[in-house]
Amino acid sequence: GKKVGVLALQGDVSEHIRAFEAALGGDGEVVPVRTPADLEGCDALAIPGGESTTLARLIAESGLREAIQTFKGGIFATCAGMVLVATEINDSRFEPLGIVDITIERNAFGRQRESFEAGLAIEGLDEPFHAIFIRAPMATAAGPGVEVLGRTEQGIVAVRCGKHMVLSFHPELGGDLRLHRTFLEAL
Ligand code: GLN
Repeated sequence: GKKVGVLALQGDVSEHIRAFEAALGGDGEVVPVRTPADLEGCDALAIPGGESTTLARLIAESGLREAIQTFKGGIFATCAGMVLVATEINDSRFEPLGIVDITIERNAFGRQRESFEAGLAIEGLDEPFHAIFIRAPMATAAGPGVEVLGRTEQGIVAVRCGKHMVLSFHPELGGDLRLHRTFLEAL
C-alpha cells in the first residue's frame, strides 16, 4: 500500500486525511507531515487549502521548504497548495516552491465569486466533477511539461505534471474521490 503524507501545518488538514483514507480503502496509510522526518518514506504529499502566505511561512519555519522541493513522490496540491507549488505568483510577499511550472493569480475569482461550485469537465473523467471553489487561485499560464486537465472561462483550474496533480478547487470536500484515485494510480 501507499503512504500518503498530508502537510499538517494549517488549513483543511483533517478533510484531506479523511479523503485519502477513503481513497486508499485500507490499503496504505495516511500520516500528518509537520517535519522533514515525517516526509521520509512517503509516496505522496497532499498540500491542503488554507492561507498560502501563512503556509509559506510555516513551511519555512518547520524546515520543510527544501524537503518538499526535493521530494521524489507525487504532490497533490489544492487551492492554497496550488499557489505554493507554482513557479510564479502575483504576490511578492513570499516565494512559491517552484515545483510545477504554472503562473498563479491568487484569489482570482474576485469578491463576487469568492466561493462557488461548478460542474467541471476534467480530462480523463467521464462525468463532470462537482468542484467547490473557495477564494480560489487560477493558473494564467502553464509550461510545456504541464498537462491542463480543466479550466473555467477565467482560466486553468486543474493540471498534472508528472506525478503531481494541482487543483484550484477542493476535491477533499464533497465525497467525490475520482481525482484522488487517478492521482494514487499514477504514483
Ligand atoms: N485564497 C487562499 C490563498 O491564496 C486560498 C484559499 C483556499 O485555500 N481555500 O492562500
